[in-house]
Amino acid sequence: MSTPPARPARTVACPACGGPSLYGPDNPARPFCSARCKQLDLGAWASEQFRVPAQPAAHDVAADDFAAGDSSPGDSRLQ
Ligand SMILES: [Zn+2]
Repeated sequence: MSTPPARPARTVACPACGGPSLYGPDNPARPFCSARCKQLDLGAWASEQFRVPAQPAAHDVAADDFAAGDSSPGDSRLQ
């Protein structure tokens, strides 16, 4: 029995800092190189969302309902 070769750690570029990031179960922050980079990226996304005026949820629901009813009103009523 030969010892199984250790799985080579796959490294990817961290989306936040561009540095080498361990992509595996040992790195819970993957694909980021660290939890700090993960937080930085999440923060960027949050600020980006705050900049964009949020659409009212009611509009989304109404549009979806209208689209569903328009595509197949018969099937909708059967259910
Ligand atoms: Zn990083």
